[in-house]
Amino acid sequence: MTTTVNEAQLLTSLKTHFGYDRFRGDQQRIIENVLEGKDTLVIMPTGGGKSICFQLPATLFKGVTLVISPLIALMKDQVDGLKANGIKAAFYNSSQDSTEQQGIIDDILNAKLKLIYVAPESLPGLENILNATYISCIAIDEAHCISSWGHDFRPSYQQLGFLKKMLPDIPIIALTATADKATRQDIIEQLKVPHADQFISSFDRENIELEVRPADGRASQIVRFIKQHANESGIVYCLSRKNTETIAKKLNENGINSDAYHAGLSFDDRTRVQEDFIFDKTQVVCATVAFGMGIDKSNVRWVIHHNMPKNIEGYYQEIGRSGRDGLKANALLFHSYADVIQLRKFASGASNEDVQIAKLERMKQFSEATTCRRKILLSYFGELLEENCGNCDVCKNPPKFFDGTVIAQKILSTIKRVKEQEATGTIIDVLRGARNANILEKALDKTKTFGIGHDTSWKDWQQYTIQLINQGICEIAFHKNNALQLTAFSNKVLFNNLKVFLTAPIEYKEPVKTATRTAKPKRTPSNSLFERLRKLRYKISLEENIPAYLVFSDASLKEMEQIRPMSADEFLTISGVGQRKLEVYGDEFIAEILDFMGSKIKKPKKTETHLVTYELYKSGLSIDAISEQRKLKAPTIYSHIAKLYSDGKDINIYDFIAKSDVEAVHQAKIELNNPKTLKEYFDYFNEQMDYFKIRLALSVIDKQD
Ligand code: ADP
Ligand code: ZN
Repeated sequence: MTTTVNEAQLLTSLKTHFGYDRFRGDQQRIIENVLEGKDTLVIMPTGGGKSICFQLPATLFKGVTLVISPLIALMKDQVDGLKANGIKAAFYNSSQDSTEQQGIIDDILNAKLKLIYVAPESLPGLENILNATYISCIAIDEAHCISSWGHDFRPSYQQLGFLKKMLPDIPIIALTATADKATRQDIIEQLKVPHADQFISSFDRENIELEVRPADGRASQIVRFIKQHANESGIVYCLSRKNTETIAKKLNENGINSDAYHAGLSFDDRTRVQEDFIFDKTQVVCATVAFGMGIDKSNVRWVIHHNMPKNIEGYYQEIGRSGRDGLKANALLFHSYADVIQLRKFASGASNEDVQIAKLERMKQFSEATTCRRKILLSYFGELLEENCGNCDVCKNPPKFFDGTVIAQKILSTIKRVKEQEATGTIIDVLRGARNANILEKALDKTKTFGIGHDTSWKDWQQYTIQLINQGICEIAFHKNNALQLTAFSNKVLFNNLKVFLTAPIEYKEPVKTATRTAKPKRTPSNSLFERLRKLRYKISLEENIPAYLVFSDASLKEMEQIRPMSADEFLTISGVGQRKLEVYGDEFIAEILDFMGSKIKKPKKTETHLVTYELYKSGLSIDAISEQRKLKAPTIYSHIAKLYSDGKDINIYDFIAKSDVEAVHQAKIELNNPKTLKEYFDYFNEQMDYFKIRLALSVIDKQD
């Protein structure tokens, strides 16, 4: 069964229903494949844009698309999102009574629905409509749940093979963010779609900035981090329930609205915490790893790991919950040796202890990396990144190495002299000449190296020791009270003068209050247009009882702030604004923008603001000076200049724009066939030409034409 549509129709459909101008990654090829009636397997990272791969075809198919989804919360979220976009969708599950369920079946019989979400357990209830008369496509979301290899195995998913048998001509599209081969194979076999075309996307999430810091004073560091990210939603992952509660308490004491979430809470409490977070009522959730599955919230701006995760899979999945909207997001991990020791304890005795320890080791290596962290992450998933990413702390601040042989020798000889019986803390105490109870009791103050390192701080010794461990120059005997011991390399360093290279201890430096401007927290002023749009979005979300990010994503609001659409046509050019959102929300948002623009203009009437600029221009002021005096941004002044020039006022336009830029825009105008929106020009120049320049150039071109 093939549904024929050309590219233009697909793009129209994308814009009308979802408000987007172009497809991301493989989306178009996937959608075409599905429309051709072919079975399809999609592997895409979280936030990659899987949903559109079946939601867009659903709008074009005659019948309904059956979506299998594991969690009621997830279904509800997706259905709300679809409805907000004007697409007829519903879910069918055990939370509904029989009247409600019958109503949905009737809607399907009467071709009133485009998508129906259902949990595998509830499929039997849909028996009557499970045939090709009604169903056009089957989407299996979170398809890894089918595999016992996967981390979220759900027995109910295993019966799904019957769908292909029952509906052999209906295309199946299975989607997941879990990439490993065993799981992939399992999905294909169990769904009985051996010939499915596979679309495997890159796992890179470029927009997430990666950072690892030493864990000293992490609670205070977290408070400061969040204060620098005011109003941004985020998750703090902790190892223990107790941690989640103490951190949440500390945040609240510091005026940061936060909740704790862990398996020890009642079902109702957990639901409330989750809902409040999704609805932007709570800014921060401090949670154990139980939190996050089934949360599609696209405006999670950062994820902090208070403790080290036990493996890279978990870490990547957790940080992947930030920045789904593609805007800049932050992942901050605190690294401590105590955590490693703790996690090792958890792993010991497990049936697959070796695997767990090996995975933990990789996680530790990632945390201690002195090369691009993203390269390490992606290589873990079998993907090679050619260039350093430029968006991790190592890339931004490459470590400097120095000859640390003498330092290493001091540490190693101390280990040797205490007969390889003491843990890191005691070794450092000896080096620093600490006369504490432990040292005196064991008479370690008699050690020959006692006090030889008194001029180096405790923390620095700790970091040097960790680096030696990482380089295999000494090791921790986890089964002997974590005593430091020598390795084959140790003797070479001690006696054969093998050189050791160390990096200067990294210490996270808090921005100094009175220092440079950039050190200031980059707080969005509460009266910025973005903040006003965010508040409006929040108000609507409460009225409609849907999460704010389903009204508009952060990305859409950012674009509104930048472009400042002031008419319906302009509003429709914003990414994320489709037909329905224009109709339902357009007026309110445009009014807010107009009001914002108006409130910034001092005395004269709104419409004449450019004339005020003209007076100042004639008096010889520069753009910056006008902008300063009028408290308007420079791009706004430039737009006045463009208008004045178009209106025939006496403006030396080439003072503001180079002839070459005008020519470039002219060329774009021809190639794009006289586009209606500035955004199309902006995209044409790969976002490298400012909007104000495009406006200025167009005012020149329009005059020439
Ligand atoms: P996934 O299911 O793969 O985690 P989603 O389908 O939830 O990802 O998409 C993540 C975000 O990206 C959503 O906010 C979605 O609206 C947005 N998105 C998807 N496709 C596009 C596109 N072509 N252009 C812009 N944004 C998109
Ligand atoms: Zn990097």
